[in-house]
Amino acid sequence: MANLLKLSSWASNIAPSPTLAVDAKAKELKAAGEDVCGFGAGEPDFDTPEFIKEACAEALMAGKTKYAPAPGLPELRAAIAEKYRRDNAVEGVEAAQVVVSPGGKYSCYLAILAVVSPGDEVIIPAPYWVSYPEMVKLAGGLPKTVFAGQDAGFKITPEQLRAAITPKTRMLILNSPSNPTGAIYEKAELEALVAVALEAGIYIMSDEIYEYLLYDGVTHASPASFSKEAAASVITVAGFSKTFSMTGWRLGTLMAPAPVAKAVSSLQSQTSSNATTFAQYGALAAMQQWDKSMAAVNQMIEVFDRRRLRLLAGLKAIDGIECARAQGAFYLFPNIEALGLSANEFAAKILEEEKVAVVPGEGFGAPGYMRLSYATSDEVIDKGLERLARFCAKLSAS
Ligand SMILES: *Cc1c(COP(=O)(O)O)cnc(C)c1O
Repeated sequence: MANLLKLSSWASNIAPSPTLAVDAKAKELKAAGEDVCGFGAGEPDFDTPEFIKEACAEALMAGKTKYAPAPGLPELRAAIAEKYRRDNAVEGVEAAQVVVSPGGKYSCYLAILAVVSPGDEVIIPAPYWVSYPEMVKLAGGLPKTVFAGQDAGFKITPEQLRAAITPKTRMLILNSPSNPTGAIYEKAELEALVAVALEAGIYIMSDEIYEYLLYDGVTHASPASFSKEAAASVITVAGFSKTFSMTGWRLGTLMAPAPVAKAVSSLQSQTSSNATTFAQYGALAAMQQWDKSMAAVNQMIEVFDRRRLRLLAGLKAIDGIECARAQGAFYLFPNIEALGLSANEFAAKILEEEKVAVVPGEGFGAPGYMRLSYATSDEVIDKGLERLARFCAKLSAS
């Protein structure tokens, strides 16, 4: 008789998301009445802009409560294609190349499933977003990480990429601005990496979910805009979660060469059908009233930027912590090797002793680092920094 308690090879090989776990633990402590300073959040702490919520509520009340076409509402797909032509300089992209999914995370998974076969290798620059290697494994692929630490600006070089490519390589994953490091590849740096990938004939999945969260005047470049050849090899993933503070809506996007988009749509139709219909009408308002959307985003960025500099200054003042000035997303990713604890130990101990929640670097393929999100209030940042400084001083003294 089969052993019912034995899980599948897929399930037994997958680790739960460590970022969600830290956030859950911090929320649990908070609910128990503890005064926790949480730097674990992977989402903006603002509400969704009012006009987007209103458009969704109107659609809901108007009965937009049925299935939508699997790849998304036609008018939303068209609006997203137009955004890519206008804002990202991707020439000639059509609605048929766009799929709306239940979250950027699911877009990533489907992009991988659409082109990666069992045994294929996928190159993932580290520090990486925790879910990439797990998704590659779920597709039967083999994640191959290439590390670039703080000294390298958390950015891999074309030489590193070239050295990692084998005849089995099928895909390179890029994520700029990056979660967890906040690092941004400049256009020329991306062009050099894309050139190596094109030469090798591999796909690129470009996760641009943080494309609008930029500071210090830096700009974002989309690899799909570099050339016709690039557009034929790049799958661009993004979504509404981070830009418009819509994490709970579960709405992601994907733009790919038409045959890949069609495959993604088929995969989606058999696994989730479509992204929530009335939620897509909220997203449509965000796309169609772009000036209003950008005004809301700019307000959010102004607040994030102030907090970024506040947290950065505080971290730099602590002995044993080294922190780069990240210019995107809402994370800082300091190095804590000098403090003599593993990041896992550090995170467990500081949560226990000082009630400060940080995400240890191990889950991002970067032991020796920790991720701090500044999607939190000035008060939490100040209080958390105080506790962090006290904790580190204690460590250095012992
Ligand atoms: C948040 C995030 C996503 C996707 O978020 P969704 O809420 O699923 O849209 C994708 N990639 C990275 C790097 C992220 O941080």
